[in-house]
Amino acid sequence: MNNPLLEKFDTPFESAPFTKIKNEHYKPAFEQAIALAKKEIDEITNNSESPTFENTIEAMELSGEKLGQISSIFFNLNSAETNDEMQKIAQDVSPLLSEFGNDVRLNEKLFERVKAVYEQKDSFNLTDEQAYLLEKKYKGFSRNGANLNNEDKEKLRDIDKQLSMLSLQFGQNVLAETNSFQLVITDEKDLKGLPDYAIEQAKADAEEKNITGWVITLQAPSFIPFMQYAENRELREKLFKANGLKAYQDNEYNNEENVKKIVALRHQRAQILGYSTHADYILEERMAKTPKTVLDFLNDLLAKAKPFAEKEIEELSKFAKEIDHIDVLQRWDHAYYAEKLKQKKFSLSEEELKPYFQLENVTQGAFDVATKLFGITFKEINTIDKYNEEVTTYEVLDKHGNFLSLLYADFFPRAGKRPGAWMTSFREASNINGNSKRPHISIVCNFTKPTKDTPSLLTFQEVTTLFHEFGHALHGMLPNTVYESLAGTNVYWDFVELPSQFFENYCYEPEALKLFAKHYKTGEIIPQELIEKVKASASFMEGFQTLRQLSFGLLDMSYHGNNDNNLDNLQVFEKDIFKQTDLYPEVENSMMSTSFSHIFQGGYSSGYYSYKWAEVLDADAFAFFQETGIFNPETAQKFYKLLSSGGTIEPMKLYEEFRGNKPTPDALLKRAGLAN
Ligand SMILES: [Zn+2]
Repeated sequence: MNNPLLEKFDTPFESAPFTKIKNEHYKPAFEQAIALAKKEIDEITNNSESPTFENTIEAMELSGEKLGQISSIFFNLNSAETNDEMQKIAQDVSPLLSEFGNDVRLNEKLFERVKAVYEQKDSFNLTDEQAYLLEKKYKGFSRNGANLNNEDKEKLRDIDKQLSMLSLQFGQNVLAETNSFQLVITDEKDLKGLPDYAIEQAKADAEEKNITGWVITLQAPSFIPFMQYAENRELREKLFKANGLKAYQDNEYNNEENVKKIVALRHQRAQILGYSTHADYILEERMAKTPKTVLDFLNDLLAKAKPFAEKEIEELSKFAKEIDHIDVLQRWDHAYYAEKLKQKKFSLSEEELKPYFQLENVTQGAFDVATKLFGITFKEINTIDKYNEEVTTYEVLDKHGNFLSLLYADFFPRAGKRPGAWMTSFREASNINGNSKRPHISIVCNFTKPTKDTPSLLTFQEVTTLFHEFGHALHGMLPNTVYESLAGTNVYWDFVELPSQFFENYCYEPEALKLFAKHYKTGEIIPQELIEKVKASASFMEGFQTLRQLSFGLLDMSYHGNNDNNLDNLQVFEKDIFKQTDLYPEVENSMMSTSFSHIFQGGYSSGYYSYKWAEVLDADAFAFFQETGIFNPETAQKFYKLLSSGGTIEPMKLYEEFRGNKPTPDALLKRAGLAN
């Protein structure tokens, strides 16, 4: 059988031949590509010559190219253009891929060669990028226990097995508890205050369960609008308290023991590998580097934001007293009165903004911003294959007119596309031995569709989303680096959101908005007063929001950054951390930790701080542009260097080269209205 996935792509730019690929091609292609990748690894381990950077590290970098190509096409489409058959294929091939990954990671002969190169690295005359790649490859093994004796290796594998079971169990318990609660409403007046879409949702949830009336659940699309809009205070309290009991009740879904076990095992694992805590282990491969840096960072922001948060709650309490005679404002009142106060202060309607943001103009606006900054240009092309007619394709050129990248833009929702917005790639950049491969980048979104009479008009949030994903896309399109593993967005986790969040800043600048925020009927540029309102409402209750984020970051670090925690009573442990950030009366018998899926189920352990960290970076970086001019060519040149360097340098060093010093939270605090 001819399999287009296995052949060399004989297409313009070697772009993926989407129209030739059929579902039946994937599985055999995966199988053959895995076999090929295995053979390539065997050739490295069986090489009779002594290990060098080229015959080991670079050879590893070059291996598995076909497999990477097929994987990116398949998994990108499985997100943007899937169907039952593809999901079935995903289930079939995922175990094969993880087995192959494990075979490489646990390959002792391969590690021996990598280690030999690592130990003689000074004798090889490596470039900085090569030295950095070597470090990364070596760490990839050592952080998984390759240097341990057999007994410890066995222990580590046993811990990993237990940890994956425990986080699975943790997640299942949270899910079961989320699904087991329902607030049944039979009296229509208890729905008072809720917007139509929330009432429809409540009705649909009731119908699905064969219940007469309306049902409110702990799922976010039901829970959040109810807390925000429902006038019935008692029901808000009931719902809020139910949420605080998730996986903390006396039943089979209680997560207290799971939390204790997960924390203990993570510490044990870190210590076997020679780290003092789990946080030390995780942060070694982050920009922040040490638990102390993270804690100082969180505590500094806490000290600065807290007085503002206190003032906000004072104002909110006064407001609630005025309009509803509330004596003591409680947690279940917060979202409700905050929404009301926000309406009173800003009365900003989405419908007022949308006509200024026609999708085509906003896209062109993002391109124009990049052109003004970096001289790069975008040209729509129709000579390459698309996986769906709705996709638009562009050729991106640098300021000298040289080819930089392909860009796919896929903007509208449809069956087979998962919700949300993301940037991804069909091919990443590399340039080994003069063999330059330019990247093929894609942006996928779910924006408001055009209708027969109206073009696609974006909400302001969609506008910032487009700029956000475009920032990631630039990171992927601009590499001036040699190795794929270090190119573009292959950077540390607490650094990767810098380019994307940085670009969002342009959505608030009059000088940028005049490029694209034009009324789709009259061509009038958006009035500045509207933008000021958007800005002010964006930082509404920012002090409180900041404290909330910090409280989660501090809790995360307390679990993972200490060795002498007393976790006998989780409730006591948690309350002790939260008392630094709490501004509301305590709620008896409630718990966050038992449903804190980010850190106990997902991959955010010792990483929750990165949300705020990234905001500090983007605000500080953009402040440099505000100081020098938001399109200043010299500042832009420095930022281009940062973007095009990808992950070839320690991010803090890279950032300092751009900015002239380390990032400080000043610009973020100013932007968020948290500075005097
Ligand atoms: Zn992002």
